[in-house]
Amino acid sequence: MLGVFGRLFNRGEVDCDDVQRMSSDYIEEQLPSKKLASVQNHLAGCGPCRAFVETLATTIGLLGRLPRVSLPPSFKNDLYEKIRGRR
Ligand SMILES: [Zn+2]
Repeated sequence: MLGVFGRLFNRGEVDCDDVQRMSSDYIEEQLPSKKLASVQNHLAGCGPCRAFVETLATTIGLLGRLPRVSLPPSFKNDLYEKIRGRR
């Protein structure tokens, strides 16, 4: 029942969809401070969203570290073949 009406009456409040949409910006600290506060406020009271953000943060962290890891050539070739195979 919330959805659009909830958003109209609670300006500044965010729901789970909003948090998940903004989560990558949140992790990368790209959110304006007003939105950041709303997201933090939501996360404080919403376990599933906290879990979502933590999982995403871990994933982004891992991806961010990948370029520094030297992968074996066979791994890269497999990857390229998979990517080509999808086209
Ligand atoms: Zn939530």
